[in-house]
Amino acid sequence: MLITNHVLSGALIGLVAPDVGSAFGRGFVSHFILDSVPHFGVDDAHLMRVAVPDGLVGLVAIAVLARATPRRQLLPLLSGIAGACVPDLDKPGRQFFGRSPFPAWFDRAHAVIQPESTRHFPVEVAAASAFTAALLVLLRRF
Ligand SMILES: [Zn+2]
Repeated sequence: MLITNHVLSGALIGLVAPDVGSAFGRGFVSHFILDSVPHFGVDDAHLMRVAVPDGLVGLVAIAVLARATPRRQLLPLLSGIAGACVPDLDKPGRQFFGRSPFPAWFDRAHAVIQPESTRHFPVEVAAASAFTAALLVLLRRF
């Protein structure tokens, strides 16, 4: 799944989690749940064409969410986002350092659960819309 959706779902989880540790843990688990849903994906030759804009949109989303979140909720929010995004550190790790930071068994398990297709971009848009709507409702309550 696009990292932007992991950012949005991790933020949502962080805002409703009872503490910072569970925000990270629940965000981490959510990564694999989202990755197991049929989602958008391209082959390795086209990966950076998607990953760069997706990463930039994800960073902007983190900045916007951090600004919109009350200070007392900020650490759980960021912890949820971190937990939800950490499993994808294998991508920048391979791109910039030539290796994943995770053991091979972890990367194999992560790769095998991905039902990716270029036809599934609407799934990403629907997920981003749902997460954003939920975040807007939740942030109005604080
Ligand atoms: Zn992933």
